[in-house]
Parts: sequence; C-alpha cells; structure tokens
Amino acid sequence: MGRIKRASLDAEEQSFQPTTLGDLAKDKVDILCWCNRCSHNSIIQVVVLLGRLGPTFPVPEIGVYMRCISCGAKDVAARPAWPSLGKITIHS
Ligand SMILES: [Zn+2]
Repeated sequence: MGRIKRASLDAEEQSFQPTTLGDLAKDKVDILCWCNRCSHNSIIQVVVLLGRLGPTFPVPEIGVYMRCISCGAKDVAARPAWPSLGKITIHS
C-alpha cells in the first residue's frame, strides 16, 4: 500500500511543474488519454499533438481539448504513456 501512496505524492510533485509536449517528444514518449466516464483509453502519438499545440503545452491540459471517441464525454484525462506502464495499458 505504501507504494500507491508514494505514487500519488510523486504525481503531486509533477503537477507542480507539468511535463510538456516538448519533454515527451524528446524522450519519445506518447500520450495516454483516458475517459473518466466510460474508461475508454487510447494512446496518441506525441508528434500529432506537438504540431497542433506546440512544445511548451503542458501534458495534463491536453485532456481539456479531447473528446472521448467512445461515449462523447469531454471528461478526458491525459498523461505521459511511460514505457514502464505499457504492460498495464496495452490489452490488445
Ligand atoms: Zn468515454
């Protein structure tokens, strides 16, 4: 259980200085978008968003511009799809 608590503390530290699209492009990390209403999720390539939003755009704010393609909700969260979490999110 301590591991979960530490993860949430880490998330709070990151939100203090959010990751930008430029950071992800540099590390070749894509973006995981998650619908808070129906739990639909998908990976969006960072280069697609980089061209539209620019390298200084903060990753957590991407969700504001997203709409779920499954249920149409605008309640979408976005975060870096770090490779270490890939096995959890990929289910095909
Ligand atoms: Zn949805």
